[in-house]
Amino acid sequence: MTKRLAVSVHGVVQGVGFRPFVYRAARERDLVGWVCNGNGGVLIEVQGEDAALDDFLDTLRQASPEEAVVERIDVVEVQGRREELFRIRESNDGECPQPCLPADLSTCPQCLEEVHARSMRRYRYPFTNCTNCGPRYSIVEHMPYDRPNTSMRAFEMCEACALEYRDPADRRFHAQPIACPRCGPRLRLLTPQGEILSRDDEALEHAVRCVDDGRVVALRGLGGFQLLADATNDAAVTTLRIRKHRPSKPFAVMFPSLQVVRQICEVGAEEARALVSASSPILLLARKRTPPLAPPQTSGHPDGPLDIAKAVAPANPRLGVMLPYTPLHHLLLEAIGRPIVCTSGNLSDEPMCIDTGEALARLGDIADVYLTHDRPVVRPVDDSVARFDGGELRVLRRARGYAPRPFRLRQDGPTTLALGGHRKSTVALRIGTQVITSQHLGDLGSAEGAGLLRRAAGDLVGFFAARPQLVACDLHPDYTSTRHAEELARAWDVPLVRVQHHHAHIASCMVEHGLDGQVLGLAWDGTGHGPDGTVWGGEALVCSASGYRRVAHLRHFALPGGERAVEEPRRAALGLLYQLRGDAVREAARKWFADAEIEPLLTMLQRPSHAPITSSMGRLFDAVAALLDLCTRSEFEAQAAMQLEFAVHGIEEETAYPLPLCKGVPAVADWGPLVEALLADRDRGVPVPVLSARFHNALADLAVRIARRADRRRVVLSGGCFQNASLQARVLERLREAGFEVFAHRQIPPNDGGISVGQVLVAGARRELCGAQRKENVDVSGDPR
Ligand code: ZN
Ligand code: ZN
Ligand code: FE
Repeated sequence: MTKRLAVSVHGVVQGVGFRPFVYRAARERDLVGWVCNGNGGVLIEVQGEDAALDDFLDTLRQASPEEAVVERIDVVEVQGRREELFRIRESNDGECPQPCLPADLSTCPQCLEEVHARSMRRYRYPFTNCTNCGPRYSIVEHMPYDRPNTSMRAFEMCEACALEYRDPADRRFHAQPIACPRCGPRLRLLTPQGEILSRDDEALEHAVRCVDDGRVVALRGLGGFQLLADATNDAAVTTLRIRKHRPSKPFAVMFPSLQVVRQICEVGAEEARALVSASSPILLLARKRTPPLAPPQTSGHPDGPLDIAKAVAPANPRLGVMLPYTPLHHLLLEAIGRPIVCTSGNLSDEPMCIDTGEALARLGDIADVYLTHDRPVVRPVDDSVARFDGGELRVLRRARGYAPRPFRLRQDGPTTLALGGHRKSTVALRIGTQVITSQHLGDLGSAEGAGLLRRAAGDLVGFFAARPQLVACDLHPDYTSTRHAEELARAWDVPLVRVQHHHAHIASCMVEHGLDGQVLGLAWDGTGHGPDGTVWGGEALVCSASGYRRVAHLRHFALPGGERAVEEPRRAALGLLYQLRGDAVREAARKWFADAEIEPLLTMLQRPSHAPITSSMGRLFDAVAALLDLCTRSEFEAQAAMQLEFAVHGIEEETAYPLPLCKGVPAVADWGPLVEALLADRDRGVPVPVLSARFHNALADLAVRIARRADRRRVVLSGGCFQNASLQARVLERLREAGFEVFAHRQIPPNDGGISVGQVLVAGARRELCGAQRKENVDVSGDPR
C-alpha cells in the first residue's frame, strides 16, 4: 500500500550534509516527495510503498552523516499527492521551534586530498570545504543555514561550483560555503599599516618565510585572528610575549601532524581521536619531558628542531596541542614543518579580532605581517580547550567545533535567555527542552567584551526568532551581564530571575547529566556573590533546580584590597594568616610586602569595606600557593592553583592534612589546622610536592565528610577549582569509594563558562514555583524541592 509521511528530524542536522543524505536514501527506494531545512531541523515529506518507507525511516535513524546528531524523528501520515520525483526544496520558513545551529567543522579527509592533488581544481586552495566540513557558525548570519544567510553571500558561485552545488550525487551538493579559486575567498598578505605585500599562494609562502625567520604572523583563521610564531624558536616566542604583554600564560601550539605531537607529548588512543575529530580542540596533553620548575628563560636556543621553546609554556608539565583544522592551516603547517604557537589575536582579556581593519587597528605592531582573506567572519569563535581524564573528554573552553550545539533538558519550560557571569562568559537560550549556548565570549571587563555579550545575546534570540518569557542573570549587582539582563527584562517586560552563582554552577552540571530532584553540590570556585554579601566559593549546597540550602562552607577569611587579591595570592595568604595570628602576622608579611605596605594592609584587614570576607576555595588555593612560595602574584586566573596542581604531578602520597568540619548549620570547614600543619611541614623542609599532595588529599577527605553529613546519594562537582585534574580525580575517587554517585562536568565547562546554562535551569524552575505573575523575582534561595 502507498502512503505519504511528514517527517521532521530534530537535532544538529543542518550544515552537515543531511539533506543530500535524505535525498539519496529516498531516491534509492523510489520514493517521491521533498526535503528542506526548517527553522529547527530538517522537514521531509515522503511517499511510497509501506516497506520502502519503513526502510527509509530505519536509514534515517541509523545511517545519518557522521557529524549529524539526530535527537528526535517525528512522523505523521498525511494526504497523498501526485508527484514524479524526490527533490530538495528551498528552505521552509514556517515556524518550527526546535533550534539547531551547526558548529564549525575541521577539514575532512576528502577535501584535504583535493587540496593536495595537483590535478584537481582546488589544488592548494585554502578555502576548500564540502557538506562534511568547513565553516558554519562563524559565517552564519540568519537561520536557516543557507548560503544567502551566510557571509558567503557576497561570493557568486562559478559555473563549476554551481554544478557541484546542484548535483545530488556530489559531495558538495548544497554545501553552503562552497568555493574554489575562481569564485571564492582569496588570501592577501598585509603590512601592519595595511599595505598589500602579496596575494594568493604567494601570500601564503611569504607568511611561511616570516614564521621561519622568527617573526610574528597574524592570521585571519576560521573564527577570527590568531597570532602565529615558530614554537621551536625561543626568541620568536619571547618577542610575541613581550609585544602581547603576556609574560608567562601558556600558549597553545599547532602541530603539523599527529606523529610530531607524539614526539613531544604522551598521546593516548582517545586523545588522538579527539585531536583529529571534526571539533578539533586544543587538547591539554602531558609532555614527555617536563620543563624545569624554574622561571622562564628569556634567552637561549632550542635544543633541537623538535623541541618546544621554553617560553611557550614555562614550567608547565602539559602542553595545549591542536592539529590544523582548515586547509589554510594545513598548507601553512606543511610548509613550515614545525609546531607553531597559535594563540588568539587579541589584547589580554579582550575578545578576538575578526575584521581585518579592526585587527590592524587593535593589534598593530604585535604582528609583523597580516595574512588575511575576504570571507567575513561573522562572530569570534575561539579554539576550544579540552582535556582527557578518567576516560572522559572534558571541555574547559567551549567554542569552535562545540558551540552552539544544544543541550537537552528533561522538561519543557519557558523560553529563557540567560546572561551568564563575568569572566569566561557565555549566554544561553532555552527553547522548549533545548538549551543553546553561545561560544566562549571571554571576560566582560572591556567595552569590546560588553559589546560582544550584547551581540551574542541578540544573535541567539534572533536566530530562533525567540520571544523570551524570562531573563536570568547572576546575583552580582555590578556584572556587565547583570545590567544587560535588567535592560532586556525591562524592554521585553518579562520577569528577571537572579540566580546565585554557585547554585548556577551545580545546576549546569545537573543539566548535562539530566539530574532532577535533590543533590549535594560541591561548588569549589573562585568568586561568586553570596546573598549574605560575602564572597562565596567553597560551598556545599543541597540543591534542586529550584532552590538550595547552604549546608557547609569554608571558614571565612578577609581579602585585603578585594579584587586585587585575585591577582595577588600573597594578599590571600596575608588574610588567611591574619585570621589565625592577628597582628602577629607582621613578621610573615615581610616576606611578601615592602615594610611601608604592611601597616596599610593591616588597617585594611580590620575594615570589611576594604577587605571583603570570603569562603572561596580558589582563594584558599592562592593562599597556600603563596605560603609555599609557588606564586605570590599571578599574571592570569588560576595561575597559583595551577602551580599547586603541577607540583603534585606524579606524586604518591596518602597522608592528608587535618581539615575538620565543625558542627553547625551551615557547617564550617576549618582550614586552621591544615594551615598550621602545612607551615610546620614547610619549615621542616618537607618537599613542596608532598605538601601539595597532602593539601589536595585534605580536600578530598573534606568532600567525603561533607557528603556523609549531607546524606544525599548523588554528589555533583562544579566550579573553577575542578579544572584542576588532580583535585577532581581525588575527590571523585574518594567519594566513589565511600559509596556516593558522583557527577563531574564533561561537555559544559566547570568554570564560569557553564553559568548561563545553569541559570536557564534554575530560572525556569523558580518561575514555576513562584507563578508567572511576578515581574521581579529576586527570591534567590528557597528550599530545594
Ligand atoms: Zn570536506
Ligand atoms: Zn567556483
Ligand atoms: Fe564561578
